[in-house]
Amino acid sequence: MSARILVVDDLAPNIHLLQVKLQAEYYDVLTARSGYEALEVAQSERLDLILMDAMMPGMNGFEACRRIKNNPDTWHVPIVMVTALEETKDRIRGLEAGADDFITKPIDDFNMMARVRSLLRLKMVTDQLLSHTGHTLSNSRSLLETIEKQRGRILLVDDHKRNAEKISTPLREKHQIVIESDPVKALRLAKTGVDAVIVSLVADSFDGLRVCASLKFNEESRDVPILVIGDPEDETRFVRAYDIGINDTIMRPIEVQELNARVQTLLRRKFYADSLRENFNENLEMVVADPLTGLGNRRYFDRAVEPLFDALETRDTAFSVMVFDIDHFKRVNDILGHDMGDQILKETAARLVTNMRAVDVVARYGGEEFMIAMPETKLGEALVAADRVRALIAGTPIFVDGEALQVTTSVGVAEAEPGESLRDVFKRADDALYKAKQSGRNKALPAAVRQAA
Ligand code: GH3
Ligand code: MG
Ligand code: MG
Repeated sequence: MSARILVVDDLAPNIHLLQVKLQAEYYDVLTARSGYEALEVAQSERLDLILMDAMMPGMNGFEACRRIKNNPDTWHVPIVMVTALEETKDRIRGLEAGADDFITKPIDDFNMMARVRSLLRLKMVTDQLLSHTGHTLSNSRSLLETIEKQRGRILLVDDHKRNAEKISTPLREKHQIVIESDPVKALRLAKTGVDAVIVSLVADSFDGLRVCASLKFNEESRDVPILVIGDPEDETRFVRAYDIGINDTIMRPIEVQELNARVQTLLRRKFYADSLRENFNENLEMVVADPLTGLGNRRYFDRAVEPLFDALETRDTAFSVMVFDIDHFKRVNDILGHDMGDQILKETAARLVTNMRAVDVVARYGGEEFMIAMPETKLGEALVAADRVRALIAGTPIFVDGEALQVTTSVGVAEAEPGESLRDVFKRADDALYKAKQSGRNKALPAAVRQAA
């Protein structure tokens, strides 16, 4: 699916011009001829970016921007304000209205595409983060704002003392800036937890493109976003910088607002991506895997089974669970050692999954206890399955370090009864397991019928 960009301008030829250029890059383009129309489209369509003309009769672009950014349904869509050349106060007004960046008329193609690409990348990460945190659009705003308010650690690679001061001074208000004129030292620094790197293409003592290439080549600095500074005549070098994988560009003479906007976009994306990664790792650990057996863990099981169980309320269908527990496993551990015990756990887990249907949910529920949910399965059928797998485990020796070991399991089986909670079904299966243990082990027993409440 290609990105959807809304172009807002009161003049049809302006719209047409941008539309042609953006469509040539395979973007989907929507158009609006006024601020009011822009609000309507933003409300009713999924958008990834808005290019907003500042000067329009009726509601101007600043006001439309402000409203889109204040609307809980649309605040996350990046906006590029299109202002007249040399109108510094318009740029400030645009940024104050919540615009993410701006371009000036007459529009320079290179600069426009740079803005579009950079902000679309940000939008993509924003969307991922929103969907992963499970927040709704409106209540995730404060979360994202907290993330993006972080102080960034920025490395500036430049050998002009005065230029470097000009760039770093405004950024220092919000961020920590480290200036480095030696490219070798800069590369070393970039590996130490930097959030963004700004590289000058107009340095005398080093080749900025080479610095960018080294940053991208090195695994530890590869993910750090790079902003490149150069002169407007440097366009071919800018293009090469993009080929190397840099994220954004800024032309001299550098304007403070422009610099702040570019840096903020890079940092937001970096911080969102970091947060996404943390979230993802956390989820992986919590939700899915038991590292030893590769099966889902208890949390995974509970989450996976709940929706299956809830579906019972609306559909008249059977649902059974069984709990397998290895017999005398403590003794196995004591005699053979913990490592052998682990191998037995792994093999038992493998036998369970390979002998269940694909629709069954199999999890390692506790130490040597496995829980299996069987949708659309009656007690009798579940019991047959449980006993078949129990017999298979007991009847086929497990080979560990060349030794053939006989391992047996006991099983409790229960079918959910109308109106019963999931916990109660588990409880009855567990009681049945206890009975199986009491009456000699290596057997599968059905749960008692539920006591009338
Ligand atoms: P029963 O037949 O009554 O189930 O006896 P049991 O010894 O299997 O039961 P118990 O619950 O008393 O002991 C379970 C043992 O499982 C205790 C613990 O050392 C072992 N165990 C739990 N998790 C692991 C694991 O990850 N690896 C190994 N090797 N052993 C584990
Ligand atoms: Mg046991
Ligand atoms: Mg046990």
